[in-house]
Amino acid sequence: MARGRFAPTPSGDLHLGNIRTAMVAWLFARAAGSEFLLRIEDLDPATTSTRFERRQLDQLAAIGIDWDGEVVHQSKRRSRHRAALAELERRGLLYPCYCTRREIREAVRAPHGPPGYPRTCRDLDPDTRRRLEAEGRPPALRFRSPENAVTFDDELAGAVAAPGDDVVVRRNDGVVAYNLAVVVDDADQGVEMVVRGDDLLSATPAQILLAGALDVPRPRFAHVPLVLGPDGSRLAKRHGSVTLADLAARGRDPASVRALLAWSLGLSERDEPVTMEDLVERFDPARLPDRPWNVGEDILGSPAEEQSGA
Ligand code: GLU
Repeated sequence: MARGRFAPTPSGDLHLGNIRTAMVAWLFARAAGSEFLLRIEDLDPATTSTRFERRQLDQLAAIGIDWDGEVVHQSKRRSRHRAALAELERRGLLYPCYCTRREIREAVRAPHGPPGYPRTCRDLDPDTRRRLEAEGRPPALRFRSPENAVTFDDELAGAVAAPGDDVVVRRNDGVVAYNLAVVVDDADQGVEMVVRGDDLLSATPAQILLAGALDVPRPRFAHVPLVLGPDGSRLAKRHGSVTLADLAARGRDPASVRALLAWSLGLSERDEPVTMEDLVERFDPARLPDRPWNVGEDILGSPAEEQSGA
């Protein structure tokens, strides 16, 4: 058994890449006879909305992705996130960081230093800290990640060995950061198998270290190669018809999108009608493509066509 989940951020409609990842996450769970949960990652009120949440749920249902139990909202779990922050604080694993994004971008990195944040504020002397505070800079809180490299076997990306990043766990506007919330919520929900886009592979070592620091079990991971547009960059709106609504306007109903995505995953012939149940029968993680999928213009239409509303 491997209880799985999909955890979208309701900041827009799901695009082909998100839906494809959701399909793979669902297939991992259902093929193992396991539960599949849905969690809405709505921590940031400035960028998420219930309107998009409703649309995303409808989009998943239209494809044939179902889930067990109530949908969980990250925004309702703030007290659990705060408790985790307090636990990390108690263990001496947090430090305030006053850096602006620009300072981080411009910081000189040691050639063999850790990835991500250059650890500028990790061991600030008290005078500097007082000076930065006096400047009125609100600090974020960062995780003092242990020195050891993390190793894990990703079900799709293979063996990974990387040091952890000192990730932000509470932003400087007070919002708990994704990297902490995801660890706390997956643990509380008993998630055993995390399947998501491989843009999050680089965040995984820090999440594993956070799980260790909080004494919660580490799930298994499968990072799905991304979907790319015809120009080779990560699929985005500007590439044309990327959402279910856009594709429907070009004559592709959700069943045909399901068929397209199943084909892109090597689970069916092109345009073969399939149900999600058919795909459970055929699913074999070892045979999933290990490279990104480049969607062609034949599917997306030309962006100019989209913009003119044609
Ligand atoms: N909410 C994240 C996103 O939409 C995914 C988080 C995860 O699967 O760990 O990209």
